[in-house]
Amino acid sequence: MRKVSIGIDDTDSKQGMCTTYVGAVLLDRLKSLGFRLVSWPRLVRLNPNWHLKTRGNCAVCIDVKCRGSSLPVLRETALRTVEELAELGCETTNPGVVLFSSSTVPAELKRFSKTVIQDVVEIEDAERLAQRIGAEYYKFKLGRGIVGALAAIGETFQRDSTYEILAYRKAEYRGRRRVVDAESVVMMDKATFPRTFDNIDPTTGEIRITPHTPCPVLFGIRSQDPEAALEAFRMVKVDEPIERWMIYRTNQGTDAHLRYSSINTTRPFTSAILTGNVSRRPRILPGGHVVFTLSDGDGEIDCAAYEPTRRFRDAVKGLEVGDLVRVYGGVKKKEGLPLTLNLEKIEVLELKKNLLKMNPVCVVCGKRAKSEGKGKGYQCETCGRRFPSGSESYVERQRDLIPGFYEVPPRARRHLAKPLVRIRGI
Ligand SMILES: [Zn+2]
Repeated sequence: MRKVSIGIDDTDSKQGMCTTYVGAVLLDRLKSLGFRLVSWPRLVRLNPNWHLKTRGNCAVCIDVKCRGSSLPVLRETALRTVEELAELGCETTNPGVVLFSSSTVPAELKRFSKTVIQDVVEIEDAERLAQRIGAEYYKFKLGRGIVGALAAIGETFQRDSTYEILAYRKAEYRGRRRVVDAESVVMMDKATFPRTFDNIDPTTGEIRITPHTPCPVLFGIRSQDPEAALEAFRMVKVDEPIERWMIYRTNQGTDAHLRYSSINTTRPFTSAILTGNVSRRPRILPGGHVVFTLSDGDGEIDCAAYEPTRRFRDAVKGLEVGDLVRVYGGVKKKEGLPLTLNLEKIEVLELKKNLLKMNPVCVVCGKRAKSEGKGKGYQCETCGRRFPSGSESYVERQRDLIPGFYEVPPRARRHLAKPLVRIRGI
């Protein structure tokens, strides 16, 4: 018996399907054929800034125990399931399936996964790596999915992981409005937060567990551990039959896409953590977006908080030139515009001390004396008394902003972005 990992990617389109569903159906089929899982099925989110991505840019991996003689059945079932369920009619859907028999994950494959999650990888790189490590790969159409499929096999969540329980709809319900009892979601959130998170957007009250696409997902609940996911799942009331459900271990909510970087070395289509000083104060753009400029001494980059991030923009608006901040987000380049980082969160490290000069107060009249010009001292306008230069005092001007973390609300959060509740608790 050996471990065989099956990676699948790029089966969905904007019109339907979801690679997590393909994984769930495949797992149920494999179980009924007698295969046994050896670890949690994995849902791996890939670089969210890559422009060729489908909806959520996720790949899945299933690890099963397999006898050598059963490998053809395993391969056949995986390929048939993808062929049957993938949106092959959609031009941008180019599925890939990878099978890899090994008890360990080679270091080279782990590095590859990290690159796919953080950067841009060509299909040829994936093919060469698969050949080198002896993984079988199958391309449907252009087969771009083998990149994500291979990456899903190589992601071992050494740094961090979360879980998501996904409930799927029966075919005849897909495309119809999802009827999930809002009150039951509120109760579930009260009972399980922060072991589950991003169930409800606190800024709008919006239920966040249901997608708004015609895909087979009825709802999904994100959690710290599988037990919390299951507990929460049992509390949600829905008005339609659930075809099947599945718990995935995932890199969602872990910041796995981010890389510590400097402004000069950061590139478009990647995501970065940059530290620097505000070099141009926040400007409000048409549409309500807020942009400020950050400098780290070597380079400058615009940092943007978009309108849907709502109250997050208030924190950003409170910044002033000289403030020391750390920013987290995806890097974009638009023709003719400077490099822009789309803010996912920001840590205000140090506010620039803003000293306000106060003229001396006349000892007789109790009024503030007037400056006679730079270095020339002060004179009381009422009694004419003079006060030397240097008799002024300074007070620190109060700032509305306080140092600390600020994040976009769940409704504007990327799948991979780590919510603050996972960084600092409630
Ligand atoms: Zn006076």
